[in-house]
Amino acid sequence: MVCQAEGCDKPASWAEVHHLDPWSKGGKTDLNRMALLCRPDHRRIHSADYLHERLPDGTIRFSRRT
Ligand SMILES: [Zn+2]
Repeated sequence: MVCQAEGCDKPASWAEVHHLDPWSKGGKTDLNRMALLCRPDHRRIHSADYLHERLPDGTIRFSRRT
């Protein structure tokens, strides 16, 4: 598996799975609701400096918050 961030082909680690639904909201452990990310992109998805959206193919697109 490789990182699902747009334009990134680093190996993704299962240890770095990002859950798109918070558990507190009843998020399921469903691959459609998770993103496999490399370590730098996982840090980025939690960064206040970036917004992210999920494209129809499951890719995560980052954009810098302005
Ligand atoms: Zn990545």
